[in-house]
Amino acid sequence: MILAQSLTIDWVLVNNCVQFTTWGVSSLLLAEILRDIYHALCHQVTWLAKWHNKHHAAYRRDLTLVSQKAYLDSQLYHDIVESIILVVLLTIIALVVQQWGLWLGVAYAVTFLYGASLRYFQGTIDTDYNHLPGPLEAIPSVWFVNRTYHWRHHFDDVNAYYSGVFPLVDRILGTGLSLKGKTIALTGASGALGQALTAELIKHNAKVIALTTNPDKIDLQTGLKVISWELGNEAALKANLEKVDILIINHGVNVYGDRTSTAIYNSYEVNTFSALRLIDIFSETVTGSDAKATKEIWVNTSEAEVSPALSPLYELSKRALGDIITLKRLDGVCVIRKLILGPFKSQLNPYGVMSANQVAQGILFLAKRDFRNIIVTVNPLTYVLFPIRELMTWFYCRIFSKAVKGN
Ligand SMILES: [Zn+2]
Ligand SMILES: [Zn+2]
Repeated sequence: MILAQSLTIDWVLVNNCVQFTTWGVSSLLLAEILRDIYHALCHQVTWLAKWHNKHHAAYRRDLTLVSQKAYLDSQLYHDIVESIILVVLLTIIALVVQQWGLWLGVAYAVTFLYGASLRYFQGTIDTDYNHLPGPLEAIPSVWFVNRTYHWRHHFDDVNAYYSGVFPLVDRILGTGLSLKGKTIALTGASGALGQALTAELIKHNAKVIALTTNPDKIDLQTGLKVISWELGNEAALKANLEKVDILIINHGVNVYGDRTSTAIYNSYEVNTFSALRLIDIFSETVTGSDAKATKEIWVNTSEAEVSPALSPLYELSKRALGDIITLKRLDGVCVIRKLILGPFKSQLNPYGVMSANQVAQGILFLAKRDFRNIIVTVNPLTYVLFPIRELMTWFYCRIFSKAVKGN
């Protein structure tokens, strides 16, 4: 009885702990959001830009320092100023709201001020993980900002990739991927989605290369170059793909109810193997730091990966492609995004409920927010089933396959 009494849970203490943790975690998140907003403002407001430009002026393309003086200036006028602003803002918020947990955010901001001051007074770079010099070996990370992610802010597009630790603000602002000035090649360019994507990409100031087996069906326009290719002869495109930043694999065939041997071979040849050959050829062009940071492959594997398309061979061949992409992503050669698209009106699917334009706009909205699996569909089940299937396939492939040496 005495033991039971002494074990009685102190609910007031539990409640206080939960409250402290909730406010504490929120304050860390708030610190990150405030810093990234300040960074975005630095690129919009002229007088803030003056200080922030010291940061941009300190690094060469390989992230080695332009000079020791430029580095010290960048620490003083950017890192220290930014950290002080963050400490002051979070202190004001903690004083106004009067929650102990919020002081955790203040302490977090103080560690950044401490790091920046140390770098300034000692002239060293080793606590600044996103700016360590040397070649970029990893692809841009999706869950947190790694060196390759931040490199793009310096050398791909200074008006994007603002986030410093968690890419939350980039996801909200749509600055997680910049298409500006990028060379983007896409297959299936003469189809409904190919044409809609071409128009949207040009609106985003990208240079588009239409890779097509039907060059006569494509209307020439400014910002668009047309290159014809043949199924089975993908290797001939290698020289053209060297200078391409993003390859969008969007061609496909739908044999509907046909189940002849020819239909089976044709479905896999077009939907699976020709896509894989293009992925392999493009992967060979990912050499060096710039390519590692900016080259991407987007593959239209379609909703047929998880949902019925009323066409068995279309589903089978697209699922095979989707699964092999999950396998290939483990090597991290470059960013590979899957486009999981629902039914839209096209030659392949006259019964589509969405328009190709809506789908193209949806794809770019999510790509700019750095979604690696881009789901655009009216079928709610796909949003539930696809992530589960993707996670299970990833887990299975990760356990039972291994990287080739040198990858
Ligand atoms: Zn930087
Ligand atoms: Zn900047």
